Amino acid sequence: MSIVRTRFAPSPTGYLHVGGARTALFSFLYAKSHKGQFILRIEDTDVERSTKKSEESLLSDLKWLGFDWDEGPDVGGKYGPYRQSERIELYRNYAQKLIDNGKAYFVYAEAEEIEKLRETLISKSKAPHYTREMLESLSTPEKIERYKKEDRQPAIYFSMERKDRVLNDLVKGDVHFGAESVGDFAILRSNGLPTYNFAVVIDDALMDITHVIRGDDHLSNTVKQIALYNALEFKVPQFAHLSTILGPDRARLSKRHGSTSISEYRKRGFLPQAMINYLALLGWSHPELKEILDMKELIESFDLDRVSKNPAIYDEKKLIWMNGQYIRKLSEEELYKVSKPFIVPIFLSEEEYKSSQKWVMSALSSVKNEINELSQLPEKLEVYSKAPEVNYELRKSLEKTGILLIYKALKNLYESMDEWAPQSIALATRQVVKEAKIKPGIFYHTLREILTGKDSGPDLVNLIFLLGRENVVSRLKRFLEA
Ligand code: GLU
Repeated sequence: MSIVRTRFAPSPTGYLHVGGARTALFSFLYAKSHKGQFILRIEDTDVERSTKKSEESLLSDLKWLGFDWDEGPDVGGKYGPYRQSERIELYRNYAQKLIDNGKAYFVYAEAEEIEKLRETLISKSKAPHYTREMLESLSTPEKIERYKKEDRQPAIYFSMERKDRVLNDLVKGDVHFGAESVGDFAILRSNGLPTYNFAVVIDDALMDITHVIRGDDHLSNTVKQIALYNALEFKVPQFAHLSTILGPDRARLSKRHGSTSISEYRKRGFLPQAMINYLALLGWSHPELKEILDMKELIESFDLDRVSKNPAIYDEKKLIWMNGQYIRKLSEEELYKVSKPFIVPIFLSEEEYKSSQKWVMSALSSVKNEINELSQLPEKLEVYSKAPEVNYELRKSLEKTGILLIYKALKNLYESMDEWAPQSIALATRQVVKEAKIKPGIFYHTLREILTGKDSGPDLVNLIFLLGRENVVSRLKRFLEA
């Protein structure tokens, strides 16, 4: 059996979206779970909309997600080049081949003429499908002459054989296309560039792609592509069309449902492991319905037979929850590393980040239960960097009941302690509470309020320890003397 080869073939016309990332993931997983190869190809023949910047950001996001491709524009490979703009000659040769065997033909017509043809068909309540006869009637001898004089090239159209076709899709099952569902279509534009449907077939065939996995918005293209495979006597690959991704309201996924590009999630502080895990569950399920899975487990358990025909529902809330789970699973060191771009320089300087590694690691760990996205770190870490405003109301009531004195005693005790360590802090604090015969719950809650101005946050003893004696004493003093 031939080795499985799958590909992801983005057009560099924008950011990597969650839908694209899911397609890339399923293609990657299918290849890797069959010990095959995964190829990255850049489909940049739409010169007006393709940009280098978009290609760079696509590659960067794909790498960040943890994909490594066996062949691609940056790593090369024996089927290269992997950018369509560098393969134009190939497409022209194959178009010529189709002309030579009568399966394609020249069309000397302006875009407006084709558009007019389309409108005429629609106005007669007919499907806008062109026949060779219709298109060739536009290529009048005068026009052919004019094109030659002006040194312009005609477009090339493929003559679509009208017959019923069945696609045996690995996800959708049998998909039927009636003989009249498509008409003739362009394969090479008059500017000499191939159309998507043509370039994709040449490339998938020449790159020995065995499985084409992509979104089901391409289903109507697939029938054209199969006809091209047949006309060129290429082996037809297997197809797997993935269902659309919808929002929880069953509407097409859009901004309204949350972030939709991978780069936005990167900025918000999502972990690639969490993104991958969540994307894998968009239309696929584990045989034992396990929900928390890393890349290795996904590769071990992925197959197309568990990919659903039904639309996948994208629920950002679940992704956020999952990211929180992954953040909490990180070791102190891992958390320290991935947090850097989120806290430097907002919370501390590069210099401090390096010189106080131990303290930073503990501070990050102390707030990790409170966040689901790393970009929430600076706000949660503020307890360490910002002394709160004095709460006068609270102060007044503590004074009235005499409890203020207890905090004064606590401050004095903190000042006189030999050693500033979590254990001794816990011990000293407990001793004060005990002597004052005050309800511990209320006492600790109020202490937190005095020290941070907040009613929840990191474990109190740990917080006091990490704040450091000087800060703790000065915050207490400010409150007591206000
Ligand atoms: N460049 C196409 C796209 O981004 C690729 C589709 C395919 O996988 O065939 O939609």
